[in-house]
Amino acid sequence: MGENSIVTEIKGLFYDFISSLTKFKTMENVCEWMVTTLNKQLNLTDSILYRYEEYTKNFIPYVREEKQINFDSFPYNALHNSVYICETETFLTLKSHDVLYGAVKLNGLDKASFSLEQLENIAEECSNFFYYNLNSNEVLNNGQKYEQLYRLTKKFHSTMKKNDVLVELISTLQKMFPFQMFYLFLSHDSNDLQNLPIKNLDYEDQSADNIKAMEAYVTGDVQAETSELDNETVLYIPLKGNQGIYGVLQVLTMSGIVEENNNIDFITLLAGAAGVALENAQLYEQSNRLVKDLQIINETSHELNKNLRFNDIMAYMSKRIMESIDCDEVGFIYFDKPETNKILSGSTEFFYSSLAEKYINYFRKEMEKHSEELFIGDISTVIQDAAMRSVMAVPMIYNHTLKGYAVILSKEPYHFSLELFKLVQSLVHHSTLALSNSLLREELETLVKTDYLTKLTSRNYFNEKIVQSMSEDRQGTFILIDIDDFKKVNDTHGHQIGDEVLIQVANIIKNNIRERDIGARWGGEELAIYLPQVEPKAGIQIAKRVVQKVRELTNPTVTISCGVTYWTAGKNDTFQYLFSLADKALYEAKHNGKNQVIIKEELE
Ligand code: GH3
Ligand code: MG
Ligand code: MG
Repeated sequence: MGENSIVTEIKGLFYDFISSLTKFKTMENVCEWMVTTLNKQLNLTDSILYRYEEYTKNFIPYVREEKQINFDSFPYNALHNSVYICETETFLTLKSHDVLYGAVKLNGLDKASFSLEQLENIAEECSNFFYYNLNSNEVLNNGQKYEQLYRLTKKFHSTMKKNDVLVELISTLQKMFPFQMFYLFLSHDSNDLQNLPIKNLDYEDQSADNIKAMEAYVTGDVQAETSELDNETVLYIPLKGNQGIYGVLQVLTMSGIVEENNNIDFITLLAGAAGVALENAQLYEQSNRLVKDLQIINETSHELNKNLRFNDIMAYMSKRIMESIDCDEVGFIYFDKPETNKILSGSTEFFYSSLAEKYINYFRKEMEKHSEELFIGDISTVIQDAAMRSVMAVPMIYNHTLKGYAVILSKEPYHFSLELFKLVQSLVHHSTLALSNSLLREELETLVKTDYLTKLTSRNYFNEKIVQSMSEDRQGTFILIDIDDFKKVNDTHGHQIGDEVLIQVANIIKNNIRERDIGARWGGEELAIYLPQVEPKAGIQIAKRVVQKVRELTNPTVTISCGVTYWTAGKNDTFQYLFSLADKALYEAKHNGKNQVIIKEELE
């Protein structure tokens, strides 16, 4: 072959390649074709293409297995010389318009067969060929790229789901850059996302890639890192919206692809579009959540304003929380006395089990120390063998004192979001007023229901109960009691001792009746017992027993007199009549010498 014919030949082949419009040529096709052509035309055993990376000043082989070459170890000035020949190797430089693109190493070249000028000419042809393709490829690719970007942004705007946005972003990138790997660095609360190459963005993780990702996340700037080992460049591109950064896209760029800055810009553009879409999705989710939260709070306040009983409020709250929050256990703990915790109704079974004790005690200790909410991602760091991991607890404060707390648990660590915690806070705060009111009301009620001295039922409440029994039951027995010569007790021992005796008699009554029966302070030193559903025979026995016990157990000793009567459905069945009969019977008992029981069924 003549001196220049080989150059002409190669030039012709390159020209043919460029002018054939049969198929789309990627830079990979171009490089491969150039290498094959050189191998054949120059009779080489092999040739290796390196691309020059300005940023690291390295020549990086397209073929992954090959070692990369550092610029400094390259004794020729690649920008000025187009050919470098040393004893074992020959390199052709790929450059154009003072930009260095790379080099081709010609393995097994028979140096004797080629002049330097020839090689320089071939280098020039290769450079032209490479440059031309790079440019046309860019133009072609750019068209494709912006079509993709357009398509993707359109798709982004049609969805309000985070997952969809990310899936779309990754699959598009993967399609456009098949030789690169993409990962998403996202923070903890994105664990409901599926089928995505997700890595956790973690403040505490000190691994190199997490640190870089964190840097991109915090600064909002693209970060790059090149590992010397496997000549990989890793890019960290923030997913930036208008108000914040929603994650970081990690791009692992393998050798085998020219990373023009253009591509990085393009990927950054995509990441930006994804960031805006994620922001929209998040805002949408947030506003949905807010609307839902407001609804829940609204409905709850409405329900609580119905003057419910304490237990009903707790049951309602529990139901509401279980419905609106994905959790395992809900508990309401009331500080009954110092050191004792009362599990209120509405609490789930768990809180009644011995397993719950260590939690209940720990929460109380914390509440009493700080009087503030607990929001714990993983309680197992402070409680051993904790089956429950996530905790939200809100104190119930009433009249400036800590009365107890509401607590929500999940077996999953880091299960609750901050938004959810805020919802629970407002739910509990809204319910505290209703709870306080009902507590106050019920405290007042027991105050009125119960006689302060004897702790027996008050007369009003007692009367109510009898009327209720008369409308529901079939019969009942009524015992009216008066302490004999009580005046004397006061006169002899003083009023104080008189009171104590009254309490002693009251306690004897309480100890000698069943749960259903009611003992009452009728007034002064007069007491009464009502026995619903009890027939007079049994009633007399109870009265006699109380008379005997009072005589035996009081100190100073007193006796009592009892008037007994009863009603059955259709007979004696107004309570005024019942009382007048009992009064009459008591009068007879006094008249007959006191310390005894008289029954009266009907007035003569
Ligand atoms: P009798 O058995 O015949 O009824 O004699 P009595 O002394 O009990 O007679 P009376 O009903 O006239 O007197 C009741 C006395 O009980 C008068 C009052 O001072 C006293 N008393 C009433 N309520 C209380 C109380 O709460 N504490 C004390 N210490 N005494 C009371
Ligand atoms: Mg009396
Ligand atoms: Mg008396």
